[in-house]
Amino acid sequence: MAEPQSQVSALTGPGPGPFELPSHWATQDMTPCEVQSGGSEPGKALLDSFLTERGREYTRQMSRPESGAQACSRLSPHLAYGTLSLRAVLQRLRATEAPDSVWARSYRSLDKRLHWHCHFIQKLESEPRMEFEALHRDFLDLHSEPADDEVIERWIEGQTGWPFVDACMRALKATGWINFRMRAMLVALSSYHLWQPWQTPAHRLAQRFVDYEPGIHYSQFQMQSGTTGINVNRMYNPIKQSRDQDPDGRFIRQWVPELAGYSDDWIHEPWRAPQALQRRMGAQVGKHYVAPIADPVQAARDAKARLTAFIHSRDLKPEAQRILKQHASQMRQTRPKYAKSGPSTQQTLDF
Ligand SMILES: Cc1cc2nc3c(=O)[nH]c(=O)nc-3n(C[C@H](O)[C@H](O)[C@H](O)COP(=O)(O)OP(=O)(O)OC[C@H]3O[C@@H](n4cnc5c(N)ncnc54)[C@H](O)[C@@H]3O)c2cc1C
Repeated sequence: MAEPQSQVSALTGPGPGPFELPSHWATQDMTPCEVQSGGSEPGKALLDSFLTERGREYTRQMSRPESGAQACSRLSPHLAYGTLSLRAVLQRLRATEAPDSVWARSYRSLDKRLHWHCHFIQKLESEPRMEFEALHRDFLDLHSEPADDEVIERWIEGQTGWPFVDACMRALKATGWINFRMRAMLVALSSYHLWQPWQTPAHRLAQRFVDYEPGIHYSQFQMQSGTTGINVNRMYNPIKQSRDQDPDGRFIRQWVPELAGYSDDWIHEPWRAPQALQRRMGAQVGKHYVAPIADPVQAARDAKARLTAFIHSRDLKPEAQRILKQHASQMRQTRPKYAKSGPSTQQTLDF
């Protein structure tokens, strides 16, 4: 089937009137250069540039929000809106010869993720209640207290006082995109460190994504919030992530102007800087950076203790087995190796 040629802004939906695109495609916050263009032609150009120029460092750079914005495929909005079909992307990928082993690794990685795309969507389709309830039913009351609106507001607006976290949130707000690792970190911080029930943050974050795809979003949200009962619970240290993924603080300085004047010594933990320096820096840019919402180390310790107590208070196995049976990947397919020597032999699809 031919790719649709219309621009995204001109798509019409199944309803009587024009299809209302989510507001984040056109909010006042965005400048055109920061937001991806819709339409199948820009989508094809994006795929081309990934396969021939941008994608070589894909696996090395994908975890960094700044370089990952270039090195990742950025196909997600096109796949979500259908301006590129997943089948067409996979066929093009499998027909491309990898110039060397580094490229071959990038192609294999993209191939794997395209499968994840469908795998995660299938989870929501086969158990739609997971939009509202914990997938693992024993986790329905993990967060027994109601959501704290003020905490969620600080989180979603990039005002936590944790510089790297705020930089990620503000970048997401301006561009509609952030890389996978940072999405996972933002969610884990909300569910663990800030101990918020995941439903409201999931809704708020979905509104920010230009590539919002409910099946991936809710499956991932629950995985990163520890409510699937079958995945390892991963708590990210926001300061470690900051030092690992933005060692020279460039990304922070770009998105958190209050911290623009801070040196590398203090940029990751500005609250540790001498008071006089903090005052001077705030005065320089006319705005003081917000105090941290919590001590990240203590918050992680508290969350671990709560989670451990919760897990030990019940038998999680029967429900975990049900989930594994219903949702775990059954795929036994051998994927192409994208060997340097020639194009893949497997170019047909089996779904
Ligand atoms: C909490 C959370 C929410 C997410 N919500 C969404 C969402 O609403 N829509 C969305 O498309 N992705 C979502 N993702 C997955 C992933 O972060 C994005 O697909 C990716 O960052 C998009 O950028 P890209 O196209 O450059 O990805 P690439 O790394 O270039 O991957 C290519 C394509 O593979 C698929 N893909 C990549 N990673 C995953 C993954 N972990 N799970 C499933 N499919 C994947 C996507 O279709 C993506 O466009 C979410 C991840 C997390 C942790």
